[in-house]
Amino acid sequence: MAAVPFVDLHAQYLSIKPEIDEAIARVIATSSFVRGPDVESFEAEYSTLMGAQHTVSCANGTDAIYIAMKALGIKPGDEVITTAQTWISTSETIGQHGAKPIFVDIDPVTSTIDVSKIEEKITSRTVGIIPVHLYGQMADMPAVMALAEKHGLWVIEDCAQAHLATIDGRKAGSFGNIATWSFYPGKNLGAMGDAGAITTDDAALARHMACFARHGGLVKGDHEMEGINSRLDGLQAAILNVKLPRLAGWTAQRRAIAKRYDAQLSGISGIALPTEVEGREHVYHLYVIEADDRDGLAAALKERGVPTVVNYKRALPFLPCYAHLGHRPEDFPVAYRLQDRILSLPIFAELTEAQQDHVAAAVREALA
Ligand SMILES: *Cc1c(COP(=O)(O)O)cnc(C)c1O
Repeated sequence: MAAVPFVDLHAQYLSIKPEIDEAIARVIATSSFVRGPDVESFEAEYSTLMGAQHTVSCANGTDAIYIAMKALGIKPGDEVITTAQTWISTSETIGQHGAKPIFVDIDPVTSTIDVSKIEEKITSRTVGIIPVHLYGQMADMPAVMALAEKHGLWVIEDCAQAHLATIDGRKAGSFGNIATWSFYPGKNLGAMGDAGAITTDDAALARHMACFARHGGLVKGDHEMEGINSRLDGLQAAILNVKLPRLAGWTAQRRAIAKRYDAQLSGISGIALPTEVEGREHVYHLYVIEADDRDGLAAALKERGVPTVVNYKRALPFLPCYAHLGHRPEDFPVAYRLQDRILSLPIFAELTEAQQDHVAAAVREALA
């Protein structure tokens, strides 16, 4: 069989081509390129689907985190607690406000922030916590919120990988003061370019974030504050409006594919499969296995037409951009150990059974 793609964005496009083409043509015909009616309807529909009072769209998921912190009043010298293992957006935006990211090691089962190690990192300068629902499984939000309340901290949930994930039936994004979302093309809900959003139940925060993202005002020329330019394009909103009603179905497909991998790959020595914790519904943005010889397995899979990715090859505390913080491997033993063991296998809603069989057979052969 032909090589299996890691993600096949074109397959998803073909499955909804007439509607996407029509939506794009309509935006072009009306020249509603920045914000406009599709953006307004997307914000309303996204709030409904996520169970949030307000959605503020913006240019990407990184800006979403930056804008959220700004609205919560972050200032230089503040400390923000976050996880050692995530995409750089979560921590680079803390630094962009002149604040300091305080990393916490990850839980060995879920790879999300280890809540039992948060309290020892709280100081008089700590203002908030940013947990990340990594790979599509939620962090232990009830425990994070209990700590935040005890210490008077705000919480921003980085939901970029976790659209429709739940914990005890409650959705990602519904716990913290603010939740941030990415619609980068490869995310579970992906645009055809950069796009992002912020959700909250707090009307004042929503208004502040909307103003800040739009040059400091909701009406052209009325600048209530200095802001930034981080708006959603009409084309991206129109595309997202076509995709949004399908998100639940695509999520169910991702979960079914993950269950199939679980069955196909169980009992193979040299690897460990992802764990879905009781009570949490994982949405499998990524299907991340652990391998004793990760690089050897990746090379053997590549030879067999199976591309893999390492998400992410260096845990944040060990990146060159944080060398000045002087972190040592023993400060984050779990993140340090996992960075050389993790490997993401192809997963996307349109992955066929034949393609999946090919991946599973390649893994078995490579480790035989
Ligand atoms: C993708 C991602 C982001 C950033 O989203 P962009 O839209 O690419 O800016 C932030 N956090 C996490 C965990 C992500 O995976």
